[in-house]
Amino acid sequence: MAQVAMVMNLDKCIGCHTCSVTCKQTWTNRQGTEYVWFNNVETRPGQGYPRRYEDQETWRGGWELRRGKLVPRSGGRLRRLSRIFANPELPELSDYYEPWTYDYANLTDAPLGDDVPTAPPHSLIDGRPMAISAGPNWDDDLGGGPEHTAKDPLLERISETVRLEYQDAFMFYLPRICEHCLNPSCVAVCPSGAMYKRVEDGIVLVDQDRCRGWRMCVSGCPYKKVYFNHSSGKAEKCTFCYPRIEAGEPTVCSETCVGRLRYLGVILYDADRVDRAAAVPDEKDLYEAQLECFLDPRDPEVIRAAEASGIPHDWLTAARRSPVHALISQYRVALPLHPEYRTMPMVWYVPPLSPIVDALSKGGHDGEDAGNLFGAIDTLRIPLSYLAELFTAGDVEPVAAALRRLGAMRAHMRHHNLGEEPDPDIAASVGMDPTA
Ligand code: SF4
Ligand code: SF4
Repeated sequence: MAQVAMVMNLDKCIGCHTCSVTCKQTWTNRQGTEYVWFNNVETRPGQGYPRRYEDQETWRGGWELRRGKLVPRSGGRLRRLSRIFANPELPELSDYYEPWTYDYANLTDAPLGDDVPTAPPHSLIDGRPMAISAGPNWDDDLGGGPEHTAKDPLLERISETVRLEYQDAFMFYLPRICEHCLNPSCVAVCPSGAMYKRVEDGIVLVDQDRCRGWRMCVSGCPYKKVYFNHSSGKAEKCTFCYPRIEAGEPTVCSETCVGRLRYLGVILYDADRVDRAAAVPDEKDLYEAQLECFLDPRDPEVIRAAEASGIPHDWLTAARRSPVHALISQYRVALPLHPEYRTMPMVWYVPPLSPIVDALSKGGHDGEDAGNLFGAIDTLRIPLSYLAELFTAGDVEPVAAALRRLGAMRAHMRHHNLGEEPDPDIAASVGMDPTA
C-alpha cells in the first residue's frame, strides 16, 4: 500500500510559527475553531499543546496488550467509557488556551506601558498550582539564562544552583501535525464510522456528514490531533491538505516553511505487517517493527507487486524520488514521534544534532570532527535520553546512531566543500564514497 508521509529536520526549525499561521489561515480561520491549530510548534522541553498531552495515564488510561491485541488498559478511562458509550475524558479549553483578539481600534494609539508579562496565569490543578497554557506555545516564553538571573535578586541569591541548571539548559522546536497513522486509534474508537483512512494515500479524515460529535477520537488520539468544533458540533483535524496533494501540490505547512525542513513523500508498506508490528510486546522494539513494515521502492519485486495492486505509476515514481524513504529506511536518520503509542505514526523527525559540549570548549567545529563523532556523542547538549523518550520509547542506541550519521555527514561535507582530503572512515560510516 502507499502512504503519504512527512519527515521534518528539527535542526532547521527556527520556531517562527509561519507553518502554524498559514495552516490556520487556510483551514481553521472559522467560528468554532478559534483555539484549533492543526499545525502547532512546541518548545521542548515543555508541556505541549494541549497541555500535558503526553501524559497518557491522565487522558485515556493507556493501552495494554491482550492475547497479541492492543486494547484500552483494564480500569482505564477509555475502557470504562467505551463500555458505557459515554464521552471519555477530554482536554478542556484551558489545556489548549483561551483564544483572544486585540482591540484593533486602539492597537496603535494606546500609550506605551511599563509592564511586560513575565509569568503565565496560574490555576489550582489537582490541588497544585500549575501554569495554564496561555497560548499554543507558552513554553516558548519561559526560557532564561545567566543574564536573566543577574537581574533578579531572588535568583541571584540562589545563583550557583540556578546557573548550574541554566548551564545545562537546552531547547529546540517540535512542529506537529496529525501523524496520519498506519494504525489510527482515532479511526478505531469512532462509534459513528466518521473517521476514516483513505485507501489510496493513507490520509486520515473526518466525514462531516457522519460525525455525531461523540469526541471519542479526541480522547483516543494519543497525539491529541483531533479537535472539536464548538460551532458545528463536529470533529475536525489536519487533512494533510488533500486537495493540494491531489493536485500535485505540497501541503501549506511544507510550502511556507521558512526553514525548508519538511520533506514530503510516499512510503510503500506491507499492510499485513502493520498489526503485528503494532503489537510487539516490548515498546523499545516498536521503532524497528515499524521500519520492517516499509518496502524499498527501488526493489523490482516491490514495484511489480505495487503495480499489480493498482498503485498509480506517479505514486511509485514519487516513492522512488522523494527523500522520505531514504531518510527513514536507508540512512535511518529520521525517527517516529512516540512509537510507544502504537499507532504507527507517519510524520517522522530528524533529531536535532546539538553541539557536543566538551568539543565546543576545545574549539572544535561544533564538535563534529571525526574524533568527537564516535567518542563524545553522549556529551551532546540535548541529552540523548530526552530524545530517546520522544522518538524511540527510551531506547538510546537508535538515536545515538542517527546523530552519529548526521554528524559524520556534516563532517564529510565540510571536508568536501573546503576542498580537503575526505576522511575515509567518516565517509564509510555514512555509506559515501570518499572520492565523491
Ligand atoms: Fe488519528 Fe491522532 Fe493518528 Fe492523526 S495522530 S491519524 S488523529 S490517531
Ligand atoms: Fe519551524 Fe518551518 Fe514552522 Fe518556521 S515554518 S516554525 S521553521 S516548521
